[in-house]
Amino acid sequence: MTWTELGLPGTDPGGGPDAVAPGAPGGTGSTDTAADGADAGSAPAAVVDLVDVSRSFPGPPRVDALRGVSLRVDPGEYVSIIGPSGSGKSTLLNILGLLDRPTSGEYLLDGVPTGSASESVRSSLRGGRIGFVFQSFHLLPQRTVLDNVLLATLYSGVPRGEREERARTALERVHLTHRTTFHPTTLSGGERQRVAVARAIVAAPHLLLADEPTGNLDSTNSAEVMDLFDELHGDGLTLAVITHDPVVSARAQRRVRIADGRLEELDR
Ligand code: ADP
Ligand code: MG
Repeated sequence: MTWTELGLPGTDPGGGPDAVAPGAPGGTGSTDTAADGADAGSAPAAVVDLVDVSRSFPGPPRVDALRGVSLRVDPGEYVSIIGPSGSGKSTLLNILGLLDRPTSGEYLLDGVPTGSASESVRSSLRGGRIGFVFQSFHLLPQRTVLDNVLLATLYSGVPRGEREERARTALERVHLTHRTTFHPTTLSGGERQRVAVARAIVAAPHLLLADEPTGNLDSTNSAEVMDLFDELHGDGLTLAVITHDPVVSARAQRRVRIADGRLEELDR
C-alpha cells in the first residue's frame, strides 16, 4: 500500500532525514504542506477533525463513553485533554489513534475520512501518521535504548542502515544520544519516557498522542517530558496530550475538558 493509493498525494509516510519534526515551519522546505491534506491547493486540512463523534459500549449495561464530540486540531497545535477518571479520555484517544471506531460521527485524519476505511488503510494511517506515548512507557527491558527505537521502524520497508540513522536522529531529538547503549531499566523515569517519545516520533508522525505521559513520573521527571513536548511543538508537531494533572495541561497551548463523554473548550 502506498500513500498515493490512499489518496494522499505527495506524502511520504517515512519522511526524509529531516523527518522527525514533520511539517515544521522553517524546515528544509522539502515538505509540500499544501498537498498534505485531501484538499490540495487550499489551506492544509486539520490534522484532527472529529465531527459529532459518539462511542457507546453495548454492555449491558450500555455505556455512552463519548457523546457528540467535535474537535478540530490544526497542524502545529498542542492540545491537552483533561477530565476525571471514567470521563472518556482513553476512549477518545483510542479513536484519535485509529485503535477504535466511533459508533456514530466521523473522524478525518489529515483530511482523510477514517470511519468506514478498511483496516489496512487505517493501519497504514496509524503507522505513518500517528505516534503514541503511554503512561507506562512500554519499553522492552532486555533491549538497548537504540533497539527500542529501531524496532518501531521494523516494518517500514526502509533499509536497516537508514532506519538506524532515523533512530539515532530521533534519540538526538530527545537529547539521549549518550544513552543509546543503555537498557531502559538503568534509566530515570523521565529518560524512559523520552525514549518512548523518540520511538513515537521516529516514523515522522503528524500527530503525537499521549495518554497520561507523566502519570508515572515525579515532578522533576514530568518537567523533563513537558519541556520536550514544548520543543516538539516548537518544531511544528501536532500534539494531543491526555492528562489529569493541571500542571501538565497548563503547558499546552489549548485546553479542552471532557466530562461524562462531552467535550468543552476551556480557554478560547
Ligand atoms: P478515562 O480514560 O477518562 O478514565 P475511559 O475512556 O477509559 O475513561 O472510559 C469511559 C467510560 O467508558 C467508562 O465508564 C468505562 O467504564 C467505559 N468503557 C471504556 N471502555 C469500555 C469497554 N471496552 N467496554 C465497556 N465499557 C467501557
Ligand atoms: Mg484512561
